[in-house]
Amino acid sequence: MGPILLTGGAGYIGSHTGVELLNAGHDIVVFDNFSNSHPEVLDRVEQITGKSVHLVRGDIRHQAELEAAITTYNCQAVIHFACLKAVGESMERPLEYYENNVLGTLQVLQAMRATGVNTLLFSSSATVYGVPQYLPLKETHPLSATNPYARSKLIIEDILRDLHRANPEWRIGILRYFNPVGAHESGLIGEDPLGVPNNLMPFIAQVAVGRRNTLQIWGRDYPTPDGTGIRDYLHVVDLAIGHLRALQHLDTPQCLSLNLGTGTGYSVLEIVHAFEKSSGKTIPYEFAPRRTGDVASCYADPSLALAVLGWKAERTLERMCEDTWRWQHHNIHGYRS
Ligand code: NAD
Ligand code: UDP
Repeated sequence: MGPILLTGGAGYIGSHTGVELLNAGHDIVVFDNFSNSHPEVLDRVEQITGKSVHLVRGDIRHQAELEAAITTYNCQAVIHFACLKAVGESMERPLEYYENNVLGTLQVLQAMRATGVNTLLFSSSATVYGVPQYLPLKETHPLSATNPYARSKLIIEDILRDLHRANPEWRIGILRYFNPVGAHESGLIGEDPLGVPNNLMPFIAQVAVGRRNTLQIWGRDYPTPDGTGIRDYLHVVDLAIGHLRALQHLDTPQCLSLNLGTGTGYSVLEIVHAFEKSSGKTIPYEFAPRRTGDVASCYADPSLALAVLGWKAERTLERMCEDTWRWQHHNIHGYRS
């Protein structure tokens, strides 16, 4: 296969996927506006793999920039990661979210059509299941959205299904990620949120390294064994390998939705204790009210991805914590260290 265009390829999941693609012998073109990432990440990806990365600084809302990137490098497939992803911010600034995520994706699709590229992996999320009606979540669970970020993912999924109905020759993989955490084992790349982290693992890592004092645990009265929320955390390298498998599977026309998760849920307190063990640091925490929109428990039934792709998440929670800690304490201030 020719080069692969990674929109948002400088971000957390895109950079780890880039490493796995390069290691598997693919050429990659990263298309990113660095609104939520740092160019340094691409030097690190090159350092890890010993291969070079093509970079196009551009915005997915501009179709011409996307078309130029695809034709210049003769890209054969697109993995579309670029997106704004903060749930709280999406409730305050819905128009920015719909513009960046939905309008941006339409430009990606139109640029693909104009250049004759019809192989696409799209980063969706477990958030499209809304409040779980049963657990573990299967791909056939009803879809709904409780905030503009989630709705942008759902709208895009619907657009992709419509596109495939009208043009069945397209090869589309909709990947519904559960909770990606961890970092590459080299400690050279990892999650580097701008400002206060919204997600649990980067917040804990910043407490451990001394950037923040106390973790607030949102809710201790959920109907779970210890009262704190349960999620399906998966190692970002397992997730990256899932993209590689999904891309190999897109050798025939289809529009496939797949969960990428481990199938195991851990509570907030279990994560805190696992991180303390891996890092040797104490994580001071206090309980705070529930976060609006949070569900008690969310975890995947990952059996379809195993059946269809032969993919299964391999890395343990201990590994997720060790790798997060290695990345964070070697890069206290992330890529700006
Ligand atoms: P990230 O913010 O680290 O990466 C996104 C990248 O897209 C960034 O490098 C950013 O600069 C770039 N970008 C944003 N808007 C752009 C635009 N208009 N033009 C060009 N580039 C733009 O996020 P991530 O965690 O790597 O997430 C990647 C994808 O996975 C997103 O679509 C996200 O919604 C989805 N996802 C993430 C999670 C998670 O917990 N991290 C969970 C489920 C789904
Ligand atoms: N969480 C928390 N404190 C934080 C961040 C998250 O208690 O500072 C909890 C949150 O309520 C949820 C879990 O940790 O139960 C995972 O949250 P995250 O935002 O990482 O993932 P999501 O809720 O989007 O699945």
